[in-house]
Amino acid sequence: MSEYDVVVIGGGAAGLSAALVLSRAGRKVLVVDSGSPRNAPAAHMHGFLSRDGMPPGELLALGREEVRGYGGEVLDGVVLDLVPDGASGFWVLLAGAGQTGAGQTGAGQTGAGQAGTGQAGAGGNPAASGRRISARRVLVATGLRDELPEIEGLAELWAKDVLHCPYCHGYEVRDRPLGVLGNSPDSVRYVQLIRQWAKDVVLFIPPGLLTVQQRMELTARAIGIVEGTAGRVVAQDGHLSGVEMTDGRLVPRGALFVPPRFVPNNGLLNGLACEMDDAGWVVTDGTGQTSVSGAYVAGNLANPRAQVITAASEGSAAAAAINADLVEEDIRESVRSFNLGY
Ligand SMILES: Cc1cc2nc3c(=O)[nH]c(=O)nc-3n(C[C@H](O)[C@H](O)[C@H](O)COP(=O)(O)OP(=O)(O)OC[C@H]3O[C@@H](n4cnc5c(N)ncnc54)[C@H](O)[C@@H]3O)c2cc1C
Repeated sequence: MSEYDVVVIGGGAAGLSAALVLSRAGRKVLVVDSGSPRNAPAAHMHGFLSRDGMPPGELLALGREEVRGYGGEVLDGVVLDLVPDGASGFWVLLAGAGQTGAGQTGAGQTGAGQAGTGQAGAGGNPAASGRRISARRVLVATGLRDELPEIEGLAELWAKDVLHCPYCHGYEVRDRPLGVLGNSPDSVRYVQLIRQWAKDVVLFIPPGLLTVQQRMELTARAIGIVEGTAGRVVAQDGHLSGVEMTDGRLVPRGALFVPPRFVPNNGLLNGLACEMDDAGWVVTDGTGQTSVSGAYVAGNLANPRAQVITAASEGSAAAAAINADLVEEDIRESVRSFNLGY
C-alpha cells in the first residue's frame, strides 16, 4: 500500500492549492518543496484578489499552514526522480545530503542569464534526505525559470526595475520613462501593451526587424524606436538609470520590460517520458493529466502565462481530477475485494 495518496512536487501557488483541496477531500498528501518559487525575487505580489501587495513568501507560508491544518504534510526537500512502481503508482526519490537536483529540474539554478533566486533547496534536510516515498498519484508543479538575455547589469535589477509582466508590476512603474528590450517582431505587440502604463515608452530593437506597418503603428502611439544593440543596463544607487547601446548612446529609462525565455522545470516529466509538444511543454488532457497515467501537472510548469492566481486555480482543478481518478481506483479495488469476499 502506498504511503501517500498524492505526492505534490513543488510548493508554490499551484502545488499548495492542490494540496489544500486534496487534504480537504480526506486524501493523504505530501508536498515536497525546494523553496525557490519563481516570484521570490519580487518584494510584492500583485493581482491576487484579496492578497494584492502581499510579499510572495507570506502567501506560501499561509498556504503551508492551511494545508497542515487539514493534515497535509509539507517537507522542505528536492525530488530527484519519479519512477513508476509497476502498478498504478510511483516512487518519489528525494535528494540526499548535498544533492540539489539542479540538473533535473532547474531548482536553484542561478547560472548566467538565469533569474533564479539561488536557493538550492533543502537537499541536506535530514527529514528529506535520500528517502524513497510511494504515492498513488503524483502532481508535478515545479514551475519554470526565466532566462534573461545576457546583457551586463540586467540580472542585478531583475524584479526591481527590470520586469517582464505588466499585469504584475506595471502599475508600480506607471508613468515612468519605460523601455522594452525587444528581440523579435513579436516585441512590437509587447511594447504596444506596455504603452498602456506610460506615455514615454521606447522600444530597443536590433536593426532590420520592423516592418513599415509596425513603424507606423509605433509612431502613431508615440512609442520611441531605438535601433541597435543594447550593451549595458546602467544603474545608479541600485536603481535603473538607463540603457547604454553598444554604439555609445545612453537612453535614460526608469524601468525596463524584458521578455525572458521561459524554460519549464520539466526534468521529472522527461524522466517519466511524458509527451511534450514541439516547444518542449508538457501535453495534458486539460485537467492536468499528462500522457503518463497518474502523473499530473499544474501551474507554470505547463502554462507559462499563469499568474499566481491562475496557477492556484490550475492546482485546484488538477486536485479535483486526481481525486476523481482515485475514487475510480477505490471503486475498482472495493469491487475486487468484495468479489474475493474480503
Ligand atoms: C519577478 C517575478 C514577479 C512576479 N510577480 C507576480 C505578481 O506580482 N503577481 C502574479 O500573479 N504573478 C507574478 N509572477 C508570476 C508567478 O511567479 C507565477 O505565476 C507563480 O510563481 C507560478 O506558481 P507555480 O506554483 O506554478 O510555480 P512556482 O511558484 O515557481 O513554484 C514552484 C515550486 O517548485 C519547487 N521545485 C522545483 N523543482 C523541484 C523539485 N525537483 N523538488 C521539489 N521542489 C521543486 C520550487 O522550489 C518552487 O517552490 C511573477 C514572476 C516573476 C518572475
